[in-house]
Amino acid sequence: MTRVFCSLGSNMGDARANLTFGVTELSTVATVLAVSPLYETAPWGGVDQDPFLNIVVEVDTDLDALAFLEQCLAIEAAAHRVREVRWGPRTLDIDILLFGNEVHDSDTLTVPHPRMWERTFVLAPLADLAPELVPIGLLEAADGEVAKIGML
Ligand code: AMP
Repeated sequence: MTRVFCSLGSNMGDARANLTFGVTELSTVATVLAVSPLYETAPWGGVDQDPFLNIVVEVDTDLDALAFLEQCLAIEAAAHRVREVRWGPRTLDIDILLFGNEVHDSDTLTVPHPRMWERTFVLAPLADLAPELVPIGLLEAADGEVAKIGML
């Protein structure tokens, strides 16, 4: 069993419903232990689009990292993910932040997620669930405006 933290984001259609769909689907392939508060996030990457809603989800899984990634990609596809512009709007994006203590470094899977330590929309909900995983000062130094807007 491996403890995993995933970041889920959406800014297309009913973003809240898309995140709920993502959590529900994750619960079919893993044991969902906790869902962070919901954050509204200014769009990333300078593309003109709606704000994102973001959460972090903590799960336990028996799958190995690549099999778990495949399930995440299948859930994204099931949410009819449409992505025409890099960093543009998306129905549902699932990133694996941490997969136990494992380190992967390939095009298919890079874990810990290479950009997670710079992004407030990742670190703030991660710190809500597991403050011990977010080094002191990193959250304050991270980029991006976020607002905690309640629970999913
Ligand atoms: P993106 O849509 O920008 O999140 O990129 C999706 C692609 O990133 C997928 O095809 C994955 O194979 C790859 N990828 C690499 N590392 C990760 C990770 N930690 N979590 C999710 N996807 C990853």
